[in-house]
Order: sequence, then C-alpha cells, then structure tokens
Amino acid sequence: MTQKCPITVAKGDGIGPEIMDATLHILNSAGAQIEPEFIDIGEKVYLAGNSAGISASSWESLRRTKVFLKAPITTPQGGGFKSLNVTTRKALGLYANVRPCTSYDPFIPSKQPKMDLVIIRENEEDLYAGIEHQQTPEVVQCLKLITRPGCEKIVRYGFEYAMRNKRKKVTCMTKDNIMKMTDGLFHKVFDEISAEYPDLEKEHWIIDIGMAKIADSPQEFDVIIMPNLYGDIASDVAAQITGSVGLAGSANIGEECSMFEAIHGSAPRRAGQNVANPSGLLLGSVLMLQHINQNEIASLVHNAWLRTLEDGVYTYDIAKGKASVGTKEFAEEVVKRLGQKPNTLKAVDYTGAPSQTMKKYERKITNINRELQGADVFIYYVGETNALGQKLEALAGPEFKLGMISNRGAKVYPNGLPETFCTDHWRCRFLGANGKTTHADIRNLLSRIESAGLEWIKLEGLYLFDGQRAYSLGQGE
Ligand code: NAD
Repeated sequence: MTQKCPITVAKGDGIGPEIMDATLHILNSAGAQIEPEFIDIGEKVYLAGNSAGISASSWESLRRTKVFLKAPITTPQGGGFKSLNVTTRKALGLYANVRPCTSYDPFIPSKQPKMDLVIIRENEEDLYAGIEHQQTPEVVQCLKLITRPGCEKIVRYGFEYAMRNKRKKVTCMTKDNIMKMTDGLFHKVFDEISAEYPDLEKEHWIIDIGMAKIADSPQEFDVIIMPNLYGDIASDVAAQITGSVGLAGSANIGEECSMFEAIHGSAPRRAGQNVANPSGLLLGSVLMLQHINQNEIASLVHNAWLRTLEDGVYTYDIAKGKASVGTKEFAEEVVKRLGQKPNTLKAVDYTGAPSQTMKKYERKITNINRELQGADVFIYYVGETNALGQKLEALAGPEFKLGMISNRGAKVYPNGLPETFCTDHWRCRFLGANGKTTHADIRNLLSRIESAGLEWIKLEGLYLFDGQRAYSLGQGE
C-alpha cells in the first residue's frame, strides 16, 4: 500500500464546493492515496479583511504539503483585492502552467475533432510582472520583463514534458519580429535548449499566425511553449475549441510546490443547484495524480471519465438542451465506470511514465563586460518637436550627442515627419561623445535638463554587453 500523500485542498466559492466534493468522491472511490488538508481561501477570506484572500495558516499548509488542489474562487468586485491565482503562482514560484486541450468529438462536438495539444505557458513574468506606471497625463506603461532564468526554466520544462509524455513535436511561439530583445531572448533560449533534444521535432511560429494555425489546424501541434500573455490567450482559445472551457484542467508547476485546478471560474449563478460540470477540476486532479506518481489511479479515473462521456452522460453545459444529469449524479456515473476504458476515444495509460520531478534550476554566473554608452532620458513635454530638439542639443554639452528623439517609439527628431502624432512622452537618446559615458556625466546632464525647466520622468541606461548593442533602435533611426 502506497503511503497516503498529504495534499492541501480548497473548496473555493460558487460552484467550487460542489465540483470539489464530486472530484474527491471519484478520487477516493478510485483508491487515490491522498490525505486532504482543507483550507479556506477566496471570497470569505477577502471579505474578512485579508486583501490577498489567503491566511498565514493556509500558506503554512501549502508549503508543507507542496501539493494544492484548488477549486475556483470568486474575486470580489472593487479595488484592493489581489488576484489569489497570481499571488499563489508568484509566491510559490509556480513557473509552468500546463494545459492539455483535447477534443472529444463526436461525443462532444468540436469544430476541430482531431485536436490533442498541450500548451505550456510561462507563468511568472512577461507583462504579468504587473509593473505599471502612469508617467505623464497621456501615457501609462507596463514593463515587459523576460529573464534568462525564466526562459530556461519554462523551455526546459516543455521539452522534458514532451519526452515524458511521448510527444513528438515542440513548438515555440513569440513575437520576436517586433520585440527582438524580450521575445527574442525567449526564442534564442528555445533554440539553445532544443539542441539537447535531438529526438523531438521543433519549430517556431510568430504568435499571430501561430495562433491562427491553432484555431485552424490544431492537429498539427503537439506541445506548444509560450511566454505568459500569449499563453494565457492561446490556452483559453484552444480549450474553447475542444468544445467547452468547462472541460479543461490545468497544472501550475514549481520547483517545490504545485497547484492543480479547473480553468473555469466559480460560476456564481450556477452555485448550489447541483448542475455544475466537475470535469475541469477532475482532469486537474488527474494531472495532480500523475505529479504525485499515482499514475495507475490517474489512468483509472481518466479512462472512466472518457467512458462516461462516450455513454452520453452529460451535465447541462455539454448536453446543450438534451437530457442531463446533476453534478453528484455525473460523479456517481464516473465511479460506476472505474475499471472501464473508452471504446472510441483514445484510452490513456500513464503507468510507467517517468517521474515528473524537474531538476532544480542552477543559476550560471557569467562575467559579461558591460559598457555604458549613453542614456535614454524620457521627458514630459507638451509642445513643438523641433523646439524640444534644439533645446536638448544645447543641453547635451560636449559630453553628449543628442542621437534622436522618439515619440511612442517612432523617431521624430531630427528630420521627423509632420504627420507623426506626438503625445506628451518623449524618449531622448543621449550618446556619450566618445562612444561611452559615466553615471556622473548622466547626473550632470539630468541637472542641466531640470535647470532648463524640462521634467525628466525616467531614465534607461544604454549599454553594450560584450561589445553588442543591448538596446533597440528607434523606428526610423
Ligand atoms: P466562469 O468560468 O465562472 O463562468 C463562465 C461561464 O461558464 C458561465 O456561464 C458559467 O455558468 C459557465 N461555467 C463555468 N464553469 C462551469 C462548470 N464547471 N459547469 C457548468 N458551467 C460552467 O467565469 P466568470 O463568470 O467570468 O467568473 C466568475 C467568477 O470566477 C469571478 O469572480 C472570477 O474572478 C472568478 N474566476 C476564478 C478563476 C479561478 O479561481 N481559477 C478563474 C476564472 C474566473
């Protein structure tokens, strides 16, 4: 007898308690060796004054069991409440979001009957770092942070996932034709790591056409690795194409802890009526069983669920007006089929799959030679472009040369076009006269700018990294 694995369980809000009870009933009937430890998260905790929606004792449980099965929660309307999902992912370092998207046609009609792909989404960085500022009355900004450790962790996870799950092809999607440095790094790391997996086919698509291909011919994809924002959008589109978002489960994997859930929300209007579909959370729990190496039980539960669908037993959301069963009854039908396999749909077999544990990421300290060449000084200014340009040329002094001014990325000085629309937010590029500069010279330049009555709002250093330009050129520069 396997030792029972302690897991932290949150029943959540809305339909959460009903679908969690149904899921746990199926898992227990299948003989899952789990020992749930229940915690309260979500609406109740938020409304009790905890703006994060989770208490200190719940964190303690999560850090001890390291496995979290979570039902959806309701984030109360209004400001001040932090998204518990984002908090949990970041605080526990859950860097990989894994979303299998499979069609169950003809039992659940789908426009894409042959779809069977897995989206591996980077979960912690990109625009979701949530670093936003209003800089001028007209301009707000959100920082897109892409890091080498972040890219290496997610890309390696994707390749290891493909190997473990006997997938054949790994696709990367980015927008590196535009964001050459951020998405470019993601793509570069993908190319570097992919060389270590000669048995897998690999490819890269620009996200816009890649996304269109997912919608049009998903059968051509297998495992897809994406930065956070693209992955968020693509995984909902892909899940919807399978027939319903109510069917998909997802895993959030970290080096220490992991969280398993349905991808849908708490559907408050359906709460307390015994109508919700527990399938998304159940499939999330199948991912959890694989994670804790209970592969036989994972196969048993997944196959019984597939057989239940084949036998035409549906909750209201899938039945679409035909006869349907309630949440509890659906769970009971799955339990009745434990030990059976689907006839038409492909049965799963997770037994013999290698352990899901990833090696810890080891940071490599590299000595890169950094040379400061100049600075982009962002200035809040309302007025005529050439007047600003001439003023800044004079302020540059002998230490600097004003390379250009751009507005929203497009070069407007010198020799800008009168047609280019300009806001009140100007990026002014100062380059050291001898091809390099110092922080002291930049501070003096900022003082001169201030003394001239101009307001600088932010500064970015312009560096060479090992002799290579480490900043983008302005459009038209
Ligand atoms: P939702 O996913 O709860 O509902 C969207 C639609 O799908 C509704 O019509 C709903 O009735 C239906 N639906 C969803 N899950 C279903 C299921 N299992 N069975 C049958 N029908 C189902 O999305 P929403 O209405 O935008 O959000 C409701 C709440 O959920 C919000 O407070 C939101 O913040 C929260 N939410 C939580 C999570 C999470 O905890 N992971 C994710 C998304 C949304």
